[in-house]
Amino acid sequence: MKIAEVIVDVPALGTDKEFDYLIPDKWLGVIEPGMRVAVPFGPRTIQGFVTQIKESSSFDKLRELKEPLDLTPVLNKELLELGNWLAEETLSFKISAYHAMLPAAMKSKYEKRIRRINMKDNPFLDQLFEGEIELSWKEAEHKGVLRALHEEIKMGNAEVIYLVKNRAEKKIVKYYFSTMSDKELKELLHTVRANAFTQIRLLKFLLNHQNERYTANDLIENCECSHSTIKNFVQKGILIESQNEVYRDPFSHKEFATTEPLPLTDQQRKAIAPILTTIEDEEYQTFLLYGVTGSGKTEIYLQSIQMVLEKGQEAIVLVPEISLTPQMVDRFKGRFGDDVAVLHSGLSVGEKYDEWRKVQRKEAKVVVGARSAIFAPFENLGIIIIDEEHESSYKQEELPRYHARDVAIYRAKQHQCPVILGSATPSLETFARAQKGVYQQLTLSKRMNDMALPFVSIVDMREEMRNGNRSMFSTELFEKLKDRLAKKEQTILFLNKRGHSSFLLCRDCGFVMQCPHCDISLTYHRHTSEMKCHYCGFNTQVPKTCPECLSKHIRYFGTGTQKVEEELNQVLPEARIIRMDIDTTSRKGAHEKLLDHFKSGQADILLGTQMIAKGLDFPNITLVGVLSADTMLNLPDFRSGEKTFQLLTQVSGRAGRHELSGEVVIQTYTPDHYSVELAGKQDYDQFYKKEMVLRKIGSYPPFYYLTLVTVSHEDLMKAVATTEKITKHIRSQVSHDAIILGPVASSIPRINDRYRYQCLIKYKHEPNLKPALKKVLEHYQQQFQKEGLTISIDVHPYTML
Ligand code: ADP
Ligand code: ZN
Ligand code: ZN
Repeated sequence: MKIAEVIVDVPALGTDKEFDYLIPDKWLGVIEPGMRVAVPFGPRTIQGFVTQIKESSSFDKLRELKEPLDLTPVLNKELLELGNWLAEETLSFKISAYHAMLPAAMKSKYEKRIRRINMKDNPFLDQLFEGEIELSWKEAEHKGVLRALHEEIKMGNAEVIYLVKNRAEKKIVKYYFSTMSDKELKELLHTVRANAFTQIRLLKFLLNHQNERYTANDLIENCECSHSTIKNFVQKGILIESQNEVYRDPFSHKEFATTEPLPLTDQQRKAIAPILTTIEDEEYQTFLLYGVTGSGKTEIYLQSIQMVLEKGQEAIVLVPEISLTPQMVDRFKGRFGDDVAVLHSGLSVGEKYDEWRKVQRKEAKVVVGARSAIFAPFENLGIIIIDEEHESSYKQEELPRYHARDVAIYRAKQHQCPVILGSATPSLETFARAQKGVYQQLTLSKRMNDMALPFVSIVDMREEMRNGNRSMFSTELFEKLKDRLAKKEQTILFLNKRGHSSFLLCRDCGFVMQCPHCDISLTYHRHTSEMKCHYCGFNTQVPKTCPECLSKHIRYFGTGTQKVEEELNQVLPEARIIRMDIDTTSRKGAHEKLLDHFKSGQADILLGTQMIAKGLDFPNITLVGVLSADTMLNLPDFRSGEKTFQLLTQVSGRAGRHELSGEVVIQTYTPDHYSVELAGKQDYDQFYKKEMVLRKIGSYPPFYYLTLVTVSHEDLMKAVATTEKITKHIRSQVSHDAIILGPVASSIPRINDRYRYQCLIKYKHEPNLKPALKKVLEHYQQQFQKEGLTISIDVHPYTML
């Protein structure tokens, strides 16, 4: 087997295929599929992924690959295949798909090192490491021992690690061990003074525990010796000191109260039974676990995972980034302890890599994480759980534009295991599939302890205005806030920031400050006193006068959390407020700290944005106020009604989850909108029916699939003309059943000085569409680099912006 097929690290269409390379003799038997290698490519040396090893090639003149960049595969067979499928499905490059599956630390800029795992007798390693624990890859390469190390790694005596150069994050522990032989130690025992008791104890201990590593504390405890004895032994060369990096466990400072499985309610037992059967029988099945917040879904996840672990299998749990709170993590760590690895974007590159490695080394059996955790390199998956399956953060908005749900189902089929999609407000696509029997629906209709759903009242803010109330709090919300303060109960105030920006408006001439590079207004940032563009990053100082007419009557519109806080301070000066938004939570651990404060009763009101909408489960919260329900409804997106319904339902679910009953006040300018009204009644079934009718009329999902092609170029005419050609080509390739909308300007027609045009395809079954789109990409690929044209294709887009 002399030839390696390699996908090179050049994300472009022309290189999106396997290249054959000869494996030089010295690397025969070392190179395996899933390893990265350095290969010559034109005049350069670049990296690539080996996808296959084979005997012969249809090409004559093959170049030799240079060397391996890994000594164990970083992608297993299943993930390599998944990468191919993903690239195919999302029309992206294989190399982008592979990169998406690996932690950022594995990108080449991080230093690689070889680490010794044990101190078992091993002359080769002893000599190579010279008493150290780690050796740099470069040095090993220089010494020409990579091949021999490959053998040691296979035998479990060493491993390759990535050193993330981030001193502050790194935790170093000193270890001590002796490499002396029995004979040498015994000789030493004879030479020490008879009354040097600590030295004798330590030597005897080492005699019985050779080649094992201990921390100073271990030694002190075991031998009743002191730091100075250890130091003395190090100086004499009896002990060797090694510095070692330990896992940067971001949650290690916490004690996890262990929890036991709860006896399930009748409803829960009914719901879990089919899941357990599929686990037992090792069959693929997707379940929709449809249950209101507080109905006990998480307990079902936990007990299903328990069965999977008992069978010796592994579990992936996806949670939206925003609800991956310490509380959520506690529930899994509380049940499964160190078997749990956590992957989310709040971790540093190094921490993420450590968590990933726990999975790779099979030290963790359960991964709890955001979207990309779906690629956890487990080899014996027993279940995949997606909590809050309707969340849009499960769709990646950059290459590869995948949806974690699709990947989950693909992997579950490979592993023959169940997928559980949990939600109180399932996406329309998922609910429709459950209705059709594609997914099996499991329902939890009751909250735990039969707690009633909170009472929701919808307040018409137009009415408030008419009655002369210009405050951001309606009379009803204000009265209730005062009431909770008096009763010492807690309140959550929610401000929907999405689709809601604070902009600058001149009251004299109506001037709105726009980004000079994008067709979008600039957002006012109070804390830095800047105007910022959220699309291209442009920022400028807040002007004192109107740039257009020089009037001084220029002011900000929109409501930010800071402004709400200021008003609260004025009208309820005695209230203690915790504000949670991007500004107050950007520092590491701040999020957790603020929540702890609130939980322990150090504040009366928790004020925040999306990040407080989910996952919070505090007993003393009896009031939830939504300051403006409808800011999202006006976005040009067919899902805006669905998103509004989901968000309002989620927020309402925060109230009255325990003994105290809860109330919700939703303030809105469009009280008659079905999304607002039905969220008030917490009536998903009704919402589903209503929304399905609208989707059918509009030919939107779940009745039609969508693919969005967006073309952008500095030159408007070029963008329009290209989109026109593409639209024409697609039209000629698909059936008459497909609906093609375009070319039209995107809803933000210009970003970063580039004009954006799009073409939207709605279809049911068009086997020719993907090949046609590929043709389009091929046709234009020359122009991508030369002329700065970009064409992005989003299969099943989530945002239409
Ligand atoms: P969900 O995930 O649907 O929001 P949870 O699983 O968080 O619901 O359950 C809500 C509350 O009820 C939690 O405090 C949980 O500990 C509790 N709970 C869940 N199942 C049971 C049970 N079988 N017996 C007693 N308490 C339960
Ligand atoms: Zn003006
Ligand atoms: Zn801009």
